[in-house]
Amino acid sequence: MARTIQEWMTGLKAGELPTVEELAYLLTVRGDDSRLLLQAADSVRAAVMGDAVHIRGIIEFSNICRNDCLYCGIRRSNQTVTRYRIPDEEILETAAHAKEWGCGTVVLQSGEDPYYTAERISKLVRAIHAMDLAITLSLGVRPRAELAAFREAGADRYLLRFETCNREQFARLHPDAPFEERIRCLDDLRELGFQVGSGFMIGLPGASLEDLARDLLFTRQLQLDMIGCGPFLAHPDTPLRESGQLPDKSVYYHTIALLRLLNPHAHIPATTAFDALDKESGRNRVLEGGANVFMPNLTPGKYRKLYLLYPDKPCVDEEGGACMLCIRGRLRALGRKMATGRGDAWRLTNAGGNNA
Ligand code: SAH
Repeated sequence: MARTIQEWMTGLKAGELPTVEELAYLLTVRGDDSRLLLQAADSVRAAVMGDAVHIRGIIEFSNICRNDCLYCGIRRSNQTVTRYRIPDEEILETAAHAKEWGCGTVVLQSGEDPYYTAERISKLVRAIHAMDLAITLSLGVRPRAELAAFREAGADRYLLRFETCNREQFARLHPDAPFEERIRCLDDLRELGFQVGSGFMIGLPGASLEDLARDLLFTRQLQLDMIGCGPFLAHPDTPLRESGQLPDKSVYYHTIALLRLLNPHAHIPATTAFDALDKESGRNRVLEGGANVFMPNLTPGKYRKLYLLYPDKPCVDEEGGACMLCIRGRLRALGRKMATGRGDAWRLTNAGGNNA
C-alpha cells in the first residue's frame, strides 16, 4: 500500500472509513507500524473518553444454558459441567459488595436459562437499582416484551454480542438461533432506551482477515454504546477443541485499536479473555491500545470454576475483593485512574454535542 501508517492514522482520526481490504492490511501491520497503530488508538481514547477507566463488576449468576453454541464451554451438551444458579440473596450480597468496592455498574451475565423469567430478573434488577448502581444485563436473546420489563424495572444497559457478521459462519456456530433474531434483539434494545453493547470474537475458526474487517465495520452500522470483543479460545469440551490461535498474536490487539479508531465514542472493555491469551498482561495491553473499561469478575469464588466459557480463564481462584485490589494495582501501573460514577454512554453524558 502506498500510504504510510501515519497517513492512515490521520485519515482514520478524521473519520475516514477504510475498505475491507484496507482494514485487513491494517490488522497485520508489524514493527513500528504496529506501535503507531496502538498509539493512535490510545491517543483517541485519551482525547475522547479521558483517562479514567470505568469499572463494571460482573456476576456470572447461572451457567445453565438451553443453547448449544459450538464455541462455548457451558453449551447445553457439555455434560462435564456442574451446573449452578446463585441464589438471589447471594447475588444481591455480591452487588452490595460491588458498590462498596467502588464499581459504578454491576453486570449480570448468565447462559440462556429459562428459569430466569422476566419476573425473576426484574426483581433482581429492582433490588440492585435501589443500591444506586447502574445495571447491565447479558442474558442472551430475549423477546421484546421481556426486555421492556427489564427496562421498566430499572436496567440501564444490555450486552449481546453478534459474534460474527458472516451469516454462514453464524449459522454454523449457533444451531439454536438465527442471526436476524440477534439483530432484532439489538434493535429492540435501542428502541426501548437501553444503552446497547455488542461485539464479536476475534479469530473464530474459519474466519479470514477480511471477515474480521467486516466485523469491525459492522460495529459502526449498529451504532453501539459499548463494544466488547475478545479472542476466541478453543475449549477442550466443545466441537471446536482442535482450533488454534491466529498465527500473529498482534492481530488481536490491532483489532481493539481499530475498533477504537472506528468508534471513538464507544465504551470499549479490556475483556477477560485477553488475560487468557497473554497471562496477566493481556488486559493491560488492551487498556494501552484503545480500551477504557475494565470488568472485574465478582462472581463468588465457589462458582467461578464452573463458568468456564474458554480455558485458562484468569482469577478463578479468587474472590471479588481480590479482583478489585488487582485492578487498582493494574491501573496505578498504567498511570490511569478508576472512574467514579456510572460510566454511562457517551451520547448521554455529552448530550450537548460537546466533543471533549
Ligand atoms: N448467554 C449470554 C452470555 C454469553 S457469554 C449471551 O448469549 O449473550 C459471553 C460471551 O463469551 C459470548 O458472547 C462469547 O462471545 C464469549 N465466548 C463464549 N465462548 C468463548 C470462547 N470459547 N472463547 C472466547 N470467547 C467466548
